Order: sequence, then C-alpha cells, then structure tokens
Amino acid sequence: MRGMAKQRSGRGARLLILGGTAEAVELARACAARPGIAVISSLAGRTRAPGLPPGEVRIGGFGGAGGLARFLIARGIDRVIDATHPFAARIGAHAEQACREAAVPRLRLLRPPWTRESGDRWIEVADLAEAARRLPKLGRRTFLTVGHQDLGAFAGLDLWFLVRTIEPPGVLPLRDAEWLAGRGPFTVEDELRLLRAHAIDVLVTKASGGSATYAKLAAARQLGLPVVMVRRPPPPSGPVAHSVEAALAWLERPA
Ligand code: NAP
Repeated sequence: MRGMAKQRSGRGARLLILGGTAEAVELARACAARPGIAVISSLAGRTRAPGLPPGEVRIGGFGGAGGLARFLIARGIDRVIDATHPFAARIGAHAEQACREAAVPRLRLLRPPWTRESGDRWIEVADLAEAARRLPKLGRRTFLTVGHQDLGAFAGLDLWFLVRTIEPPGVLPLRDAEWLAGRGPFTVEDELRLLRAHAIDVLVTKASGGSATYAKLAAARQLGLPVVMVRRPPPPSGPVAHSVEAALAWLERPA
C-alpha cells in the first residue's frame, strides 16, 4: 500500500469502502492483510445479517452527498472505493459528488456483467417497468429475482410469481405469488430442481453479474426458458476496476 501510505505522513492511510457486495468484503479482507492501511467499510443496512468484513464497519446512510463529503473530511479519508452493487445508482452518484467536493480520489469497483452464451434466450430490457410490460407475452409462471426492494414494478400483473430474496419482502405487492428465502451461491442442480418443481416458464433478473447467482441462467439455458434481463444503470464517471486485484493495484498507485 505504498501509494496510499505516501499520501499523508505521520499516520496510516485511510480507505473507505462503500460495500454491500461480496467484492467489498473480499477487498476489505485483502486490505486487512496489508500493513499501513486502515479500512472503514460502509453498509446501507438493508440486510439484517450481512456478511461482515474485517476492520471498522459503519452501517446506515450518510444523509446524501453532503453528508458523505462531511464524513470523508471528518474521518480523514484518503481514498474511496465504491464497491456497491451494479444497480446501486444513488450511492454511486453521491460518492462521485462527495469525493469531488472533498478532493478524495475514488474508484468504482464493478463486477463484470454476465455474457450471453449459445442457447441463452435473454430479452434485454432498459428497466423494471419494461420487464413488467414484456412479461405477459413471455410466460405465466415467473421466477422473479430482482431483490426485495423492486417487486412493486410487477404489481397488477395477472401472472404467478416465485419470488426469491435474501430479506423477507413483507406483504408481497403481487396478486399471486410465493416467497422463497435464498442467499447465493446457488448450484445449477438446485436451480434446475426449483424451476422444474414450480413449472417456471420465464425468469426475470437484473444484469448483476457475479458467480453467486449465475446458476439460474445456466439452468434456464438447459431448459430453454426465456430470461428477462434488466440492463445496468450507467456507472458514475471516473476510473473503474473490474476485479479486487485491479482495485488493489489502484491503491498502490500514487494519487
Ligand atoms: P442506492 O439506491 O444506490 O442508495 C440509496 C441510499 O442508501 C443512498 O442514498 C445512501 O443513503 C444509502 N446507501 C447505499 N449504499 C450505502 C452504503 N454502502 N453505505 C452507506 N449508505 C448507503 O442503493 P440500493 O440499491 O438501495 O442498495 C443499498 C445497498 O444494498 C448498497 O450498499 C448495495 O451495494 C446493496 N445491494 C443492492 C442491490 C440492488 O439490486 N440495488 C443488490 C445487492 C446489494 P444516504 O443518501 O443517506 O447516504
């Protein structure tokens, strides 16, 4: 961590990781193993039992971009790595603005998207609203894996849904649905069993990427099922790393 350590002499370097993903935990672990760097990991607090990284962890919003900028200055943060989920667009925009205001270098750590393979029947859509509009023409029994915060887009549809989320969604905003708790990684065998047991004929997912939830796509390919794939929002401006290794290399570089 020579790049960071050089920035402010007299004390260790301070990195803020905006987390809520497996990559953020992996990055915090890798940093913990290196001398001369103190990591603060930040979580939004959406998950009741999140996988906690080593080092200091703070939980809850900052109160917008201004609050985040004040936090960066008050805690003497040298660098920020935004390792939030590819669909967490608001915190990304806040981080961009806050780091500009506080003159703190920032990197977006963004896992690569999934790539289409032969046999995949993906229907790419711009957003959840378009996914809901296209769905009735694609199937009657939907496997819906868009997270517990985004189910409302499918309210009012006269279809049956199998909803899988990490957190209980409370009262489902859907006419006819069953909820299943689930946290990856999932296996293709289990996903095949699930799709067959519920006679699923279409899937809906965000283009999240990552290996933990890829098995449903391999299972859909094997069964020849269509997958409605919600495209990612555009990333904030500035440097992007697609792996924890690349993020560590960015930390080594002088700001
Ligand atoms: P979002 O829409 O981008 O952010 C909404 C607000 O939540 C932000 O304005 C911020 O509040 C707070 N926030 C978000 N991430 C934070 C973090 N790491 N630390 C402190 N505050 C945070 O985010 P979201 O889509 O609701 O996602 C929330 C969290 O869940 C993220 O950390 C993300 O990595 C994780 N996650 C999201 C998804 C998804 O599909 N969206 C999936 C898996 C995990 P203030 O404005 O008050 O600072």
